[in-house]
Amino acid sequence: ERKFFVGGNWKMNGDKKFINELVECLKKCPIEQSVEVVVAPPTIYLDYTKSIVPQNVQVAAQNSYKVAKGAFTGEISPAMIKDIGIDWVIIGHSERRNVFGENDNLIAEKVAHALETGLSVIACIGEKLEEREAGQTEAVVFQQVKAIAGKIGEWKNVVIAYEPVWAIGTGKTATPQQAQEVHQKLREYIKKEISEKVAKEIRIIYGGSVTGANAKELAKEKDIDGFLVGGASLKPEFIDIIKANK
Ligand code: 13P
Repeated sequence: ERKFFVGGNWKMNGDKKFINELVECLKKCPIEQSVEVVVAPPTIYLDYTKSIVPQNVQVAAQNSYKVAKGAFTGEISPAMIKDIGIDWVIIGHSERRNVFGENDNLIAEKVAHALETGLSVIACIGEKLEEREAGQTEAVVFQQVKAIAGKIGEWKNVVIAYEPVWAIGTGKTATPQQAQEVHQKLREYIKKEISEKVAKEIRIIYGGSVTGANAKELAKEKDIDGFLVGGASLKPEFIDIIKANK
């Protein structure tokens, strides 16, 4: 009953010509009712992308700040995202955390504010290689969820994206077993610390070197409810990932 969710995080890629081509490719793909598809273009192309995507493809911002307006040069707010008719935002992506220095507390505040504004949130978590090797994977991802749980009360508009940092852009996909193990532990943690209902209903999607070739196997796992796709979301194989639950 958790609807399969496929997000395409374009990161800082694309231009109008490229976006036109990508959207043309999406338009040719019959997207089943059983799949929710959301693409996240760079901020400057949000409005344009929204104006050309078919109605069965939603659009997400890649980031938003923790307040509605003010002297925060370079930032955009959830209110602005909503104002242009967009319903989703990605928050806490590992590149925001590790390249731009965002911490758990800021990310939790941003998630809370986006939800209060009425956006749905793809909240990203995931451990680094050295954390995995030190046996800290669970501790790290639980803490990342805990920080968010401390600031929000309602989870129905949240999708959790588990993206192990070592798998992002590296071609080293987590095996279906590795991903499933973390997803299952996260669901148990949510059951214990938040509620049984949230644990049952929340979608936990996997991200990190997902491709048209490996998505089907990953999608078979019980607690993997979809994907957040980087590199492959810029290619025609994104279509195969959208169909991976079949
Ligand atoms: P890749 O699919 O390029 O590994 O990126 C994953 C990601 O970070 C999606 O948000």
